[in-house]
Amino acid sequence: MELYNPLVIKAIRSKYGFQFSKSLGQNFLTDPGVINGIIEGADIGPNDLVIEIGPGIGVLTQAAAEAAKKVIAIEIDKNLIQILGDTLAAYDNVQVVNQNVLKTDLKKLIEEEPGEYESVKVIGNLPYYITTAIIMKLLEDHVPCKSITIMMQREVAERICSGPGNRIYGALSVAVQYYSVVSEVMDVPKEKFMPMPKVDSAVLRLDLREEPPVDLISEKMFFRVVKAGFGQRRKTLLNSLGASGYDKDRIRRALEHAGIDPARRAETLSLQEFADIANDFSKGDD
Ligand code: SAM
Repeated sequence: MELYNPLVIKAIRSKYGFQFSKSLGQNFLTDPGVINGIIEGADIGPNDLVIEIGPGIGVLTQAAAEAAKKVIAIEIDKNLIQILGDTLAAYDNVQVVNQNVLKTDLKKLIEEEPGEYESVKVIGNLPYYITTAIIMKLLEDHVPCKSITIMMQREVAERICSGPGNRIYGALSVAVQYYSVVSEVMDVPKEKFMPMPKVDSAVLRLDLREEPPVDLISEKMFFRVVKAGFGQRRKTLLNSLGASGYDKDRIRRALEHAGIDPARRAETLSLQEFADIANDFSKGDD
């Protein structure tokens, strides 16, 4: 069954009385080229375990099941569970979990999976309303996977990829680049979905780092500094870093030790410069 075919999607909707839920971010893929692009971009091999977020009616799930040893697909909408049971009936290597991915202990799910796998790869055409929450959960929870290949709004993908000096560079860019090496898989115009969303999309692949790109005394302090800096991104570092809990003298000293002009703004700092400031705070006053 060509689940990407709009006529098939329509037939499924009328057979099961299924209505698209806007609030669950349901925009289903209608292009086999994009589906192949995600599977190839994720570099899924025959001994891999794939975790799919938001399978919908199973269009990507089927393709992943063809390529991988096993697929665990996590779908929140109970109205899709019976449909998935039917569209995936021919695949004995797929497990559908009817859960909210934000409340799922993915680490436990993967660690308790009994099979032997070469690697674990996360894929998904993400629901747009919680894109960044899902990405941050996967990264901050240290979900034991090799890579995360996901579709998101193009604007979010651009923010994730941007670097110092760019007006869209922010805490999300720093966090994702800290945890992973980011690469662009493809751009996907909005016409490739049903129903058609308002914005275009892009697929990114995040390869999780084995070692952090900067040496930190405290990861918590690093993110405290990043959050404070970008919390008031129009302000100079001397002012914005006040939100990290330090007074101006201490901030001035930290910036001086790090060789950073206090008149600069967070959006001009590299990961290394954030790390230098955070490490100076972590060292204390001596
Ligand atoms: N993978 C399908 C495709 O590409 O056609 C559907 C993608 S659609 C953009 C997003 C899917 O995520 C929907 O099936 C939606 O019900 C599901 N979803 C939304 N919120 C979710 C959540 N919190 N946990 C798990 N799945 C969720």
